Amino acid sequence: MDLPTESTPAVIHAPEAFRAACDQARAGGRRVALVPTMGALHAGHLALMEDARRRVGPDGLVAVSVFVNPTQFGPSEDFSRYPRELDADVARCATAGVDLVFAPSPRGMYPDGDQTRVRVAELAAPMCGVTRPMHFEGVATVVTKLFALAGPCVGVFGRKDYQQYRVISRLARDLFLPVEVVGLPTVREPDGLALSSRNRYLSPADRARATAIPTALRAVRDRYARGERSVIALLDVVSQGLAGSVDSVDYIELRDASELTVPLTPLPSEARAVLAIAVKIGQTRLIDNTVLGEVDVTLD
Ligand code: AMP
Repeated sequence: MDLPTESTPAVIHAPEAFRAACDQARAGGRRVALVPTMGALHAGHLALMEDARRRVGPDGLVAVSVFVNPTQFGPSEDFSRYPRELDADVARCATAGVDLVFAPSPRGMYPDGDQTRVRVAELAAPMCGVTRPMHFEGVATVVTKLFALAGPCVGVFGRKDYQQYRVISRLARDLFLPVEVVGLPTVREPDGLALSSRNRYLSPADRARATAIPTALRAVRDRYARGERSVIALLDVVSQGLAGSVDSVDYIELRDASELTVPLTPLPSEARAVLAIAVKIGQTRLIDNTVLGEVDVTLD
């Protein structure tokens, strides 16, 4: 029996070379999948890559971009200390059967004279948009650039960054981009904490406190399952679950799962609502969410 072999993905730095590789694959009849990341890859990212492979088949081209995008970080955020470990990331991509890693430089993605930005107005305004006002403009801009280079493809994202997933789905639709955007379930640690490249910033004591996040999300799912539909009561379950464990709450919000608008209370029976939170533990900002009214096996 032939065992699958792990081959090292090609590493491409130049945007035009990335475009050429994707064009060439499609010209040869291969489908293309793109998994945009900022690197420091973990099992959550690998799950996206494996799903991308399933979508394009064994002959498809699975490309992962690794780019710490400067325009999505605010002036006091962690851009300069965000982990950069390209060699290790390429090795991790090899284990997931990735064909190509696109690792551009900031100057490559934002050449001299660059002045175009993509703004998704309403989806980007609430939640993370309040405290990170330029964040989604940076995300939308870089993802649009990546889609423009990749051409027709499947773009694979995680729902852990739920608002980002909604913003990217909408920009692809609004700009008629030839990209199918898919959002995959959150991959979690055994105790339920969502995997994140930022978890490494947590001290052991802070890591222990962080389990309050999935515990609070489970509590609100339980309360919803037992019939609670009052928005205030559901939000209260989460604030009480987090109290004493987190150092500050950026937001706890219940929003329409598609449009991110404020839902009616009590929640109508057909509502799909996302309960999303952003908190700080120590200096580390963590986000998480669960969609009420939808099976969430990652928390059950
Ligand atoms: P990042 O490198 O953090 O920008 O994330 C790159 C992609 O991986 C985004 O689509 C994220 O939503 C996704 N992602 C990050 N963490 C997880 C996770 N724990 N489970 C699933 N997807 C994730």
